[in-house]
Order: sequence, then structure tokens, then C-alpha cells
Amino acid sequence: MALYLTVLGSSSATPTAQRHPSAFLLKSNKKRDYFLIDCGEGTQILLRQAGIRMQRISRIFISHLHGDHFFGLIGFIFTQNLLGRQEELHIYAHKPLKTIIDLHLKTEKTILQYPLLFHPISTTKKKKFLLYEDDTMEISSFPLLHNIPTNGFLFKEKGRKRLVSKEFIAKYNPTPEQIANILKGYNFVDEEGNVIHSKEITCSSDNHKIFAYCSDTAYTETILPYIKEVDLLFHEATFMEDLAHIATEKYHSTTKQAATIAKLAQVKALMIGHYSARYKDTNTLIEEAKTVFPNTLGAFEGSTIKI
Ligand SMILES: [Zn+2]
Repeated sequence: MALYLTVLGSSSATPTAQRHPSAFLLKSNKKRDYFLIDCGEGTQILLRQAGIRMQRISRIFISHLHGDHFFGLIGFIFTQNLLGRQEELHIYAHKPLKTIIDLHLKTEKTILQYPLLFHPISTTKKKKFLLYEDDTMEISSFPLLHNIPTNGFLFKEKGRKRLVSKEFIAKYNPTPEQIANILKGYNFVDEEGNVIHSKEITCSSDNHKIFAYCSDTAYTETILPYIKEVDLLFHEATFMEDLAHIATEKYHSTTKQAATIAKLAQVKALMIGHYSARYKDTNTLIEEAKTVFPNTLGAFEGSTIKI
């Protein structure tokens, strides 16, 4: 299994000539439909430029109601209607967004020709909670630390299972029945009567990936239990370290703070983004994060990475 993340917007509050406000597309090779994470202004244009069929987006997850994370959503909803969408579109966001969407529809006297299903994200739940699950994926939400209610998201591929080690198979050439028994937890007995414990010859398959999305947030170690050892962590890094005081004031993070969270959570890779418009060259931010967490990469519009 594999997850693919396409960056559609790496900027923070204001767009620049090269960068757009927050938006990311997540695909799984096990699913026909796609997930959109945040939907800043210009998201539709980036989707078009990346050659992504918008009608295949089935679920949209909005982290919080600062405009740079949802100003593209109304346009997206209306475009889907114009394109003759019939499939359901699910939106997961904080409750006031429903009022905003309804007001636009009412003002335009538009009745959508497709089902738009709104799932409010609770602001009272202070821990991780499940938003959606199907045969291949489990998506949950957890609180971040920002100046309005904000949630991070965890996308977890399902089906992480145990396998019999290749070394054992090469050495003993077990029958399919023996393999099935080992996976059920039975011990293996070789021809000389030696008992080999099931636990010693099985391992967890690691090809089921987990992606964690944390934007926007101030530095907070409260998120560590939720993002521990994920395959890819997106963590905002709006500012460089010399502006740490502004980051704290605005409930955002610096490069080194994002990297410290990645290091403490022992994630496999970190992607930073949500860069302040003041930075022309984002390589300096990536380099600074790398001094704390070497496996850091930067978000760039149009780029896709395999998680
Ligand atoms: Zn924000």
C-alpha cells in the first residue's frame, strides 16, 4: 500500500507570486477517491495545474476557520455543481463553516445537484477521535494549539498485519498450513523437536503508512502521543528561529520547533510549510529545520511525494 501527498499550497496567510495558501491532496493506491486537506484560495487552480480530477475528491478536511485554510472551498463546491457532480462530497470542519456555506448557497439561490454532507468537528473533545473509516483507511482528528479551535489530522492505512520472517521461510521451508498456524500464534517445532516460538519468527508488516497533518499550531508537546513514529509528519514552520517571539505571539511555530517535534515523536520524515510570505527563498527554512531533524523536506506547490 502507498499514500501520495501532493502539495497545492505552502504559504501562510497571504499568497505570494510563487506560493498559495494551505491545501494538500492525499491519494491511496487502494482507493479510487481522493482526500483534500485544507482548501485555501486558489486550490482549484492548483488542482487543475496538477491534472487532478476534482470530482474524485470525496472528502475534505478543514483544520480550522482561518481564511487561508478554507477560502477556496466555496468556489470548489460551486464548481462541482457546474461540472454536474453527482457523487457525495463530505466536509469535515468546525461547525460555523456550515453556516458560511449555507449563506453562500442561499445568496446565490443555488440548490446543489449533488449531496453535500457536513460533519462537524467537535471542539469539546480534547483528545484524538475518529472522523472516518473504511476498509483501507482510518482518519482521526486531534487538537492543536492555535488562537481559534484547530485540529490536526491523522491518516492511517489499515491492515497492518503480521508476517512470517523471510529468514525463517528460507531455512525451514514451512508448508502454507504451518505458516497459517504460526500467524495464529502457534509455535513451530522443527524435525529435531526444537520449539521455535511464534513471536520470534513473525514481524509486523510496515507497508501500511501513516500521515499526520499539523497546521496551524504553536509549539506543543501535547500532540506527541498522536503523531509518534508516523511515516510523514507535516508540521507548519511559519517562521525562522530568529522570529520565535512572533511565532509564540501568533500561535505559530518556527522551523526548529517543527523539527524538535519531529525528533521527539521519532517520525520517519518531516515536511515543513505554511511559510510566511516574508521569505522569498524557503530553502533557508528547510536548512534550519535540518540542523535539528535531518530528514526534513519542504513543501513546494505541485510536488508529490510517496509516503
Ligand atoms: Zn491559522
